[in-house]
Amino acid sequence: MEYPLCVFDLKSGIFCHKCEEKLRLGLYDDFDVKVMKLLLELEKGFPQLQKAGYVKAVNGEETVFVVLREGSLRSFDFRNLVALRKRLSESLGKHVRVVEDRPDVARFIEEVVVPARVVAINKIWLPDGSEEMRVILDYERNLKVGVKSLMQVVEKVKGVRLRVDFERRRRPPRRLQAQPRASKHTL
Ligand SMILES: [Zn+2]
Repeated sequence: MEYPLCVFDLKSGIFCHKCEEKLRLGLYDDFDVKVMKLLLELEKGFPQLQKAGYVKAVNGEETVFVVLREGSLRSFDFRNLVALRKRLSESLGKHVRVVEDRPDVARFIEEVVVPARVVAINKIWLPDGSEEMRVILDYERNLKVGVKSLMQVVEKVKGVRLRVDFERRRRPPRRLQAQPRASKHTL
């Protein structure tokens, strides 16, 4: 796999000036280093990884995302991909999703939320001049990666703040429905 840090550095744990600078600038953090080391080990068992390129790993609240360069997963079949995800999940102790990067933010979001579907997506400008993206997904139950993790991966990989909404929620939000007095009796 093509890594943004030297393979020799990753193996030895001692970083050259170039790699040190990338870490200092925050382009990659300790978690990236951990995941890159792990992927290096996994290349033996998954030779398809040799053609892949590393982009970023994001340790989200509910899910770890391993983001690889566009096209990296082309040579994987479904079974291999499941096996890779399983190995990564075991080693990192968390639900892992391996996704490809996309140049376009909306396409990247589509990739990350599968099997949920993007119903609408638009940019909103805030009074302070900053910009957010609002995305509406079809059904909360279909978003397996978690809302927080989705926001985290889009912010870290694309530099875009996200607001997430759903066409259909898991259940109607109770606090909006029930009056305090009524809920005392019903609960
Ligand atoms: Zn280096």
